[in-house]
Amino acid sequence: MNSVTTRLFSFVAMCLLFGTPTVVTAAGTVILIDGQNNHDWKSTTPILVQALTRDGRFDVAVATSPPHGGDMNTFRPKFSEYDAVLSNYNGDLWSEETCRALENFVSMGGALVVVHAANNSFPEWKEWNTLIGLGGWGGRNEKSGPLVRWKDGKMVQDNSPGAGGHHGSMHPFAVVVRDQTHPIVEGLPTTWMHANDELYDRLRGPAENMQVLATAYSNPATGGSGEHEPMIITVSYGQGRVFHTPMGHDVGAMKCPGFQEILRRGTEWAIEGTVMKRPLPIDFPGPVARK
Ligand code: ZN
Repeated sequence: MNSVTTRLFSFVAMCLLFGTPTVVTAAGTVILIDGQNNHDWKSTTPILVQALTRDGRFDVAVATSPPHGGDMNTFRPKFSEYDAVLSNYNGDLWSEETCRALENFVSMGGALVVVHAANNSFPEWKEWNTLIGLGGWGGRNEKSGPLVRWKDGKMVQDNSPGAGGHHGSMHPFAVVVRDQTHPIVEGLPTTWMHANDELYDRLRGPAENMQVLATAYSNPATGGSGEHEPMIITVSYGQGRVFHTPMGHDVGAMKCPGFQEILRRGTEWAIEGTVMKRPLPIDFPGPVARK
């Protein structure tokens, strides 16, 4: 029995003995990768750690890579000692060994969590792009895969040519849940306001074994695509699961209680395949009218 199973068993035992407990059991261990990013990883990593650990659901360790141009052969996080890998990294390609280790980790049942510019990384690493489903910038174009949008009640792929990855000006925007039965978004308001953030549009990638759980309308008035763009994405890869959100440009965006709750739920789902039912945090953004 692994440690996660042990904790789940103790939770069930406590429910039987004492009714619903007020303590929250941990869903698992996470290794957060940072060290290079075109975003301020030094200020955002503590916010991600805080979001995951604030109710005791996760234990988080941080693995910081050498700086840009450093010897990446020395960067060998032990992914297999954790339940989930969370990437806050956008920089130099990892060593062959570390790339293969991540692929093996997820295909054998490990969890991968990707936030914002982590999806800009590694355009040249084929399996990384399969893992994340969609990515942006770094020379991505129609050869990287289709654009993915929400149209007429379903996810659609668009193979028209053009660069992958773009955003308009930062603004608060509405996140629209598209599959209310999925554990990551079950019970959330169907439409809720996310904090001031970059709304990534025109992401491209293999988009295989991928599900879009929520979208946001990328309004041309703020420089957007005029399309409903994926905001909460899941990918299955071998026996593993990936949770990916393009949200989270900076500290302000990551402090959004909505972002933090979907980060916790997404990480838990990627590890367990389920999300333990809990009340929504009282500061979760209220519902807004769907446009
Ligand atoms: Zn950004």
